[in-house]
Parts: sequence; structure tokens; C-alpha cells
Amino acid sequence: MTVMEQTKYLIAGSSHAALSALNSIRMLDLDSSLTLITKDERLPYSPTVLPYIVSGKSKPEKVQLRDDAFFAKNKVNFISGAGLSSLDADNSKVTLQDGQEWQYEKLLLATGASPTIPTIPGLMGTSFYVLRTMDDAVNLNAALNNVKSAVVLGGGLIGMHAAENLIKAGAQVTIIEMRPQVLPGYFDQQAAKIIEKIFADIGVTMRIGDTVIGAAQEEICDADLKINFGDDRGLEWFKKEGVVTWPKTPQEVYWRAFTDARVPIYWEWMPELREKIQAISGPVGLDVPKDYYSALAEFLPCQSHECKKEGFDFYTFYYRDTLHTNSFTMENAWLDEAAQLDPYSYNIAMNTDSGRARGLVDGDVIELESEKGRKVTGRVHLTEAIHPEGLGMAALCGHWAKGMPMAKGKGVFYNELLELDWESVNPVNLTLDLCSKVKVTRVEEN
Ligand SMILES: Cc1cc2nc3c(=O)[nH]c(=O)nc-3n(C[C@H](O)[C@H](O)[C@H](O)COP(=O)(O)OP(=O)(O)OC[C@H]3O[C@@H](n4cnc5c(N)ncnc54)[C@H](O)[C@@H]3O)c2cc1C
Repeated sequence: MTVMEQTKYLIAGSSHAALSALNSIRMLDLDSSLTLITKDERLPYSPTVLPYIVSGKSKPEKVQLRDDAFFAKNKVNFISGAGLSSLDADNSKVTLQDGQEWQYEKLLLATGASPTIPTIPGLMGTSFYVLRTMDDAVNLNAALNNVKSAVVLGGGLIGMHAAENLIKAGAQVTIIEMRPQVLPGYFDQQAAKIIEKIFADIGVTMRIGDTVIGAAQEEICDADLKINFGDDRGLEWFKKEGVVTWPKTPQEVYWRAFTDARVPIYWEWMPELREKIQAISGPVGLDVPKDYYSALAEFLPCQSHECKKEGFDFYTFYYRDTLHTNSFTMENAWLDEAAQLDPYSYNIAMNTDSGRARGLVDGDVIELESEKGRKVTGRVHLTEAIHPEGLGMAALCGHWAKGMPMAKGKGVFYNELLELDWESVNPVNLTLDLCSKVKVTRVEEN
């Protein structure tokens, strides 16, 4: 049986309204029990900072409005990650999502608002974001690693602010506003025109007086083509003008084996280039390794090939899963289903003999630890089709964002094993060392 908790004041929510109420209560009553229960899993923050989280200018941990010390000092029982799920006003009782019950004397619901999702045909089948909570902003910021362009629906305050920060984050942005001007509730047409021009000047494509009637492949394709080729080169233009197509021959795809073009193998200018680079980088304390600038190609072992630590006896590598050509395909329910049937998509491929020698059986959960202590876990698939010292993982997996519910938690996030530092890149072309030497440990399942 759950014990019912008691509090004099119960405030649901932890944002502006909740914190103002808390201040006012403590001005009148310093000691009575006061409990703040919020659905959000974080310390209080203001939604006004969210666009800066999207652009990466601010970090979630830097924008807290109150901390634990504040709550302790003001005798506030702060409970986060707990949403109210039902209210029994007759008996002054609320129930939380985890079943916990609270008895109160006075209750304030400061639970704010939630975004209205327009009923656009096809929208639910596409990947889209709203901007209301910190999780929304963090997910949107993470999504910018994989996308080049964004369409913002609505030229209101939040849409415009989000668009400004999306473009600062490097995305190509289109704002679609159905009214004849942006910020219709705030500015007259004359002022709105000035703002629209400023946005256009920083590179935002403005579609004013336009309504989205469907979000489907064709519309997305049209928007993408226009972003890349100009407003008059949308899908219709390409349909009318056509694109050049021809059956590709093996000679075109694997051209290197079929062409007698000369490939330079002696680059006499490389040592000289290093001297020039060193003249710039040296004074700021950066010593560019000489070996990379030799005139003849040389094999230079990457960090993982130099690892001789005991127990670290596998080289990891990733490959593109034929089922998933882009990271957003992980959100496709059919491809996900097919990937779950494919023993390679979401698992770690290991040579059968190597696995058996370590007492592993197909389907065991294993932890991979890199020399620098980075760790990932996944299920092993034993196969003859891999080198005894290799561990293969299909890339694009291991998504963690709540905004990708289909992909979340599937497969292994390969990049987690890689180092992103100066020692792990080739200074000539900044190519990252994409393998790592790892130790494998079997993980007991409960
Ligand atoms: C991107 C963005 C930018 C903005 N910029 C500005 C600006 O520049 N200037 C300005 O004045 N205003 C701005 N606003 C508006 C402003 O943020 C809101 O008016 C204000 O946050 C409303 O405060 P609130 O406390 O009523 O609700 P909210 O801020 O919405 O907070 C609601 C709280 O209730 C919690 N909650 C919700 N459901 C439950 C539940 N079932 N149980 C428990 N807890 C729950 C939530 O976790 C949250 O803590 C912006 C809003 C956004 C989204």
C-alpha cells in the first residue's frame, strides 16, 4: 500500500508561474510545508532560453533559474520528473504518474501550455519538432547534426526566434506564415516588412501568405529543391524540364580500375607545405607532426593500431547497413521491422571462433571499452564473415533522442567509441581515426 504524502501548499509546475507563486507564498508563510512537483526532469528553467539551446549558444546546465540550495534554503520540497496524472478535488488529493498520492490544503496548477499541432495531412508521418520544453530544444539541437535545412511553420514570436537560431546553427531555413505578414499579433504591416527583410537578408527564405496543406515527400522534395536551386527551380520545374538519367555502367561506378589516368605518387610540395603551416601553428603552440607531410605516401598507424594494452584485442569498425542509408531511415517503422529481423543491423558482429574462445554465445550482451575508457554495449552476433580481430557495427544506430521513438535505443552508437581530438586526426586532411581498439566483457542480464 502506498503511503499518502502530506503538504500544506502543493504547486504543480516549476516554471515562471510556479516560481512566482512560491516567492509570494514564502513572503506570507515562511515555515509551512510547500511542495513543488513538476513533470520536467530538470531544475527550473525559462522556456525563453530554448531558442539559444537550439543554436548551441546556451547549454541546458547553464540556464537554471533555481538550484537545490535555493529550495533547501526556502524549505521547499522540490520533486522533478513527476507529472500529476489525476486530481480528486473533493478529497484534496492528487496522484502522480508513478502512483504516489499527495494530500494538500491548497493546490496551484501552474502547468502552463502545450503546443498545438496543426492538422496537416501527412504531418504525423514526417519527422517534426515543437519547441516548448528543454527536451524539445535539446532534441532539435541534436537533429541539426544530421540535417541541412529546416522549415519553420508559423512566423510568430517563437517561430521567428527559432528560425533566427536555426540559421545561426548553420541550417538553411524557410519560414511559412499563412497570414499576409510575420508577427501578425504584434506589429503592423509596415514594421513586419522591415523584419521580414532583415530575416531575408540573413538568408531565411520567407513564404508569407502561404499555407501548408500537406507534409509529404513531394512537398519536402519541392522545398529542398528550391532551397538548393532557387525559388523558380522547384519540383514542378524539374518535372517539366526533366533530369538527365542513364543506366550506370560498372566502368562509371568503379572508374579507377578502368581508367588509365595517371595518379601522382610523389608530392614534392608536401614538405614545404608543412614548413608553411608550422610557421603559422608553431607560434600558437601547435606542433604539426612532420611524418604526415612526406612527399611519398607512407603508412602511419592510427592511435588504435598503437594500443598494446592487455585485453584490448579487437579492432572496431563501422559500415553502412544496406537497410539504412540515412540516419532518419531509422525512424521508418518498416525498415525498423526489417532491421530487427536482420541479425547484423542492430548487433555487434564478431568472428565465431573468437567469440567461442571467450565463452560467448550468439545473442549475449557485451560491453566494449576503448583504451580511453569509452564504453558501449550491444548484443553480439557470431559469424564466419568477419576477421577474428574485428568487431563490426552498423552505423547510424544508437539514437537516444526522445523525438525519435522508433529509433531510440536500437543498435549501438558507434561514434561513442571514437576520440575527437588532435591526436586522433590526420592534420593534412583532418580525417578522423574511425576505428578503436577495445576490450570485450560479457554483461550479465537480469
Ligand atoms: C521558445 C519560447 C520562447 C519564449 N520567449 C519568450 C520571451 O522572449 N518573452 C516572454 O515574455 N515569453 C516568452 N515565452 C513564453 C513564456 O515562456 C511563457 O509564457 C511562460 O513560460 C509561461 O509560464 P508558466 O509557468 O505558466 O508555464 P510553462 O513555462 O509552460 O511551465 C509549465 C510547467 O508545468 C510543468 N507541467 C506540465 N504538466 C505537468 C503535470 N501534469 N504535472 C506536473 N507538472 C507539469 C512543466 O514541466 C513546466 O515546469 C516563450 C516561450 C517559448 C516556448
